[in-house]
Amino acid sequence: MLSNFHTHTVLCDGKSTPEEVVLSAINKGFSSIGFSGHAPTDFDESYCLKNVEEYMTTITGLKEKYKKDIEIYVGIEEDAYQWIDRSPFDYLLGSSHYLKVDGIYHQLDCGVEKLQNCFAAFSGDPLALAEAYYQQFTAYIKERKPDIVGHFDLITKYEESQTDWFLQNPDYHKIAEHYMKIAAENDVIFEVNTGGIARGIRNTPYPYENLLHILRKSDAKIILNSDSHHKDTIDCWFAEARKYLKEIGFQYLYTLYHNEFQKVLL
Ligand SMILES: [Zn+2]
Ligand SMILES: [Zn+2]
Repeated sequence: MLSNFHTHTVLCDGKSTPEEVVLSAINKGFSSIGFSGHAPTDFDESYCLKNVEEYMTTITGLKEKYKKDIEIYVGIEEDAYQWIDRSPFDYLLGSSHYLKVDGIYHQLDCGVEKLQNCFAAFSGDPLALAEAYYQQFTAYIKERKPDIVGHFDLITKYEESQTDWFLQNPDYHKIAEHYMKIAAENDVIFEVNTGGIARGIRNTPYPYENLLHILRKSDAKIILNSDSHHKDTIDCWFAEARKYLKEIGFQYLYTLYHNEFQKVLL
């Protein structure tokens, strides 16, 4: 059963129109597709939905137009720093894209330069940055209980290609694993996110392999998402991810189908 619930379009920072994405999903034999436009924030509008109402109307219109071909869901991707009214949406994807230090919101996933500024705000101490990031994100997950948790270890985005602050440091892993265990105690679904692979900067999905082992041992729920910004990448690395997850020991995935998150065989 093919699906993806982390999808961006031209209505926020994606490259394809919602309809192009829907047609691509139908073409690829998807049973459902969910859109997750970036909810607006007061501190950074650069990548967010310009008009949430237009977004809802557009996706709802497509839902009706293509109801015989595919199930379409209107989700929203919220940043942990700014909660939105989740009630009009089919699901809430909760993510952390910033770290606020001394009143400045440092972007974590918009280029190494910006991440470097954040790094400097922690006096160049990667462990202090990691501790702050995971502590805040885990507290958000516990309190907010988003339906889906987005890219849990986003701070490692550039680790396989451009930086070496975290993954080579055993103390970093202790911090990430500690917080993954705490996060996994919540009844939420963690996404296995292949977005970095589509962008050509990672070889493996988020979360990193050791964290996936913790999710498996904790019997946590997972969902496979591509964090797609283009119609052609809605299933990027999905076949490989299924194999990879089976090797780690997962047997099931979750998917949104018939208006419910359901467990399906991997
Ligand atoms: Zn995100
Ligand atoms: Zn996203």
